[in-house]
Amino acid sequence: MKIIMLGAPGAGKGTQAKKIADNYGIPHISTGDIFRANIKNGTELGRKAKEYMDQGLLVPDELVVDLVVDRVQKDDCAKGYVLDGFPRTIPQAEALDAALTTLGTAVDYAIDVDVPDENIVRRMSGRRACVSCGATYHIEHIPPVQEGICDRCGSTLILRDDDKPETVTRRLEVYHAQTQPLIDYYSGKGILRAVDGTKDMEAVFHEITSILGA
Ligand code: AMP
Repeated sequence: MKIIMLGAPGAGKGTQAKKIADNYGIPHISTGDIFRANIKNGTELGRKAKEYMDQGLLVPDELVVDLVVDRVQKDDCAKGYVLDGFPRTIPQAEALDAALTTLGTAVDYAIDVDVPDENIVRRMSGRRACVSCGATYHIEHIPPVQEGICDRCGSTLILRDDDKPETVTRRLEVYHAQTQPLIDYYSGKGILRAVDGTKDMEAVFHEITSILGA
């Protein structure tokens, strides 16, 4: 099962993507996580991506498309995968479709986690990420056991630069201009399914599993 997660930054698509991956035993591929790992490891890709990410802008298509097209051809993707944060532009979606067509396959579902803008800024200012392992929390919805400390590895939790309010506002503008058109794109292909992302995490996941089947 090949799934794409759509939704504004902070809509909860990453959380749902991880739950889908666990539930169906397929890899969770987050381009944001891949960039953050590259930044942490000081790679050339990380250095280039950070310039854009810190400003709330999208990383150029040419830095992300090949990376994803290579990743989905790895052995662990044979049964499918959940793409989280990719595609984010129409050219990315077209490049993915072209690559999958060449491989004789296609995306099964694009799931849009729908949350109005007014909820997003509030949600994102509560997000915290681990500086070390990248685990994410929310001070209201998914708090760590000990405030400011990662449950998984014990490192410090921070508000990521790209989750700061001024960056969030920019990211929402970028989302509406560049990513939202994908909703029509996948709707036109008959594979778009929308879920109400304002519900609590388990209710949203339940909606998703009823779409995907057991
Ligand atoms: P995310 O964790 O998915 O919200 O991604 C964090 C940041 O990484 C985004 O704001 C972008 O700057 C960058 N990014 C992640 N995925 C993509 C993509 N598919 N295309 C362009 N930029 C991306």
